[in-house]
Amino acid sequence: EISKLKDPSLFCQNAFVNGEWVKSKTKKEFSVLDPATNQEIGKVPEMNAEDIKIAIKAAKEAFKDWAALTAKNRHDFLKTLNSFILDNKNDLATILTQENGKPINEALEEIKYGAGFIEWFSEETRRTYGDVIPSPMKSNRILVQKQPVGVVGIITPWNFPNAMITRKIGAALAAGCTVVIKPAAATPFSALAIAKLASKAGFPKGVINVVTAEQNLKEVGLELTTNPDVKKISFTGSTPVGKMLMQQSSSTLKKISLELGGNAPFIVFDDAEVEAAVEGTIKSKFRSSGQTCVCANRIYVQSSIYAEFATHLSEKVSKFKIGNGFDQQTTHGPLIDEKAIKKVTRHVEDAVAKGAEILVGGVQRNGNFFEPTVLTGMTSEMDITREETFGPVAALYKFESEDEVIKLANDSNVGLAGYLYSRDVGRCWKVAEALELGIVGVNTGAISYVEAPFGGVKESGIGREGSKYGIDEYLNIKYINFGGL
Ligand code: ADP
Repeated sequence: EISKLKDPSLFCQNAFVNGEWVKSKTKKEFSVLDPATNQEIGKVPEMNAEDIKIAIKAAKEAFKDWAALTAKNRHDFLKTLNSFILDNKNDLATILTQENGKPINEALEEIKYGAGFIEWFSEETRRTYGDVIPSPMKSNRILVQKQPVGVVGIITPWNFPNAMITRKIGAALAAGCTVVIKPAAATPFSALAIAKLASKAGFPKGVINVVTAEQNLKEVGLELTTNPDVKKISFTGSTPVGKMLMQQSSSTLKKISLELGGNAPFIVFDDAEVEAAVEGTIKSKFRSSGQTCVCANRIYVQSSIYAEFATHLSEKVSKFKIGNGFDQQTTHGPLIDEKAIKKVTRHVEDAVAKGAEILVGGVQRNGNFFEPTVLTGMTSEMDITREETFGPVAALYKFESEDEVIKLANDSNVGLAGYLYSRDVGRCWKVAEALELGIVGVNTGAISYVEAPFGGVKESGIGREGSKYGIDEYLNIKYINFGGL
């Protein structure tokens, strides 16, 4: 727990602006609770628009020098940050589990995954190549150069309190941008710990700023999205909030990256290896107790293997052990809060009322814990079909044919990730290409790597994170026509 950190200075209860640890002008603070116990972990400043203006100004000031560094200089800063994160991975994982609830081993995995983005983009910064384009005129040359967009406003969710930040700031800082980060109110301490390590790593003041707010969320969001000195918004969170931020950002026409909700289909054909498909389902569905935007939400299983699949999955799920993330036996932690429990409960009750059957789980335990659940007999009329559950509920739908399941899978307004299991190569290609998604896992339930482009289509968002494409989101293309030759 947090009282046992090796380096207690990583637990920061102030915001980080212009290289200093600050309170809010409002003098107010808000409490952050441990989702496993509902006990207070600590307090952070309740900042308002005035506070955010100061942070944006600092980031704007710092931008000039940061953008002017060589790519190699920025590489060195990011490389140092990467090694500081890894050197402190146990403390960072402890902070993460304390505020998010996920089991400590999963938190440790997130820290390593998160550090990977800083490492990856420390390398990519030296590869932001331009172009020389053959000109239609003898007297000139056409040059293309990439330049950082400027100050970036970053708004992140609580489900990956570390990695959602490193995935964005890795790319932004590598590109030469400076950042104002507003982490989720439920998980500010992981963000502040990153800022602490960045300041120890020698990042110049104002390059990285972390601001915190809970009650004042709306005005803080409005300032970030309407302040003309912010040139880009990068957001991960729910689709309704993403839409609102995009609308607000239009007043100054900011560049925008949105990584929003999904409703992942997980398709198991009758020629799949059932055991492997069960394992993949567990990885995809129950990671972080179902609280990721790429978690399987609708599990479609072909009729001839449906019963076998349901039995195997239920057996495995019934062995899960929910509990405090610090307890070594815990396989699955709590949900983030009461609101999350209510949504999961509503989804289960709605499904049961419309004819689904609970094979395992289905009920809330004390506090924010919900028993890992398997539902069978799902139909399109049920709420889970349309809404991301964001909880530990595996909902099984039976299907007959390939064409039918492609239609069902695509019958959604969102399209982030999806999965399919089959040993028929032709079918894998065909279905993977037909799915209206940004990411498809074929015979695997794991799809997130720093090397791979992450992002969605439809109402799942705009832009890609990680990979060789990720840094472009933070760069403008400048074309220089070199004449008079
Ligand atoms: P979730 O359901 O995962 O909490 P949200 O979209 O509500 O999803 O939250 C994701 C992030 O967006 C969090 O950092 C949250 O504080 C922030 N957020 C929510 N509402 C607003 C808003 N009106 N303006 C700015 N940020 C917001």
